[in-house]
Amino acid sequence: MNDFLCPACKKHLRVGDNIIFKVKNSKKNSALLLLSPQIGNYTSHKHPTFEIQNGESLEFYCPLCSASLISDIHKNLAHVLLLDEKGESHNVYFSQVVGEHSTFETDGESVHIEGEDAGRYTYFKIGDKFRKYF
Ligand SMILES: [Zn+2]
Repeated sequence: MNDFLCPACKKHLRVGDNIIFKVKNSKKNSALLLLSPQIGNYTSHKHPTFEIQNGESLEFYCPLCSASLISDIHKNLAHVLLLDEKGESHNVYFSQVVGEHSTFETDGESVHIEGEDAGRYTYFKIGDKFRKYF
């Protein structure tokens, strides 16, 4: 199974079958949001009192160091590190927009694209933005 790390503090965000994030909605309310560690699986869990709407842009934060996870390639994409079973690091970018399915995973050489909405972001430049972290 892959591990997921915060790019700022390098601590583990994955616990069991969830990646744990702190998110803020457009009303600036914060909550915990759990996402699947399987790339391309867009199942999420949150407390029912935390209201989010389709198309709403959330802000993702590391629950440990509170760093913003917004990527430097697009304001709609959050960025985390993936550590695979061989200990190799990959960059993972995923949409912060509720209901939008787009994920990009790269080891610095090739880019793996997942999700039916990924085409919205293919205009961004793939190249030296994808750097190695380890
Ligand atoms: Zn962190």
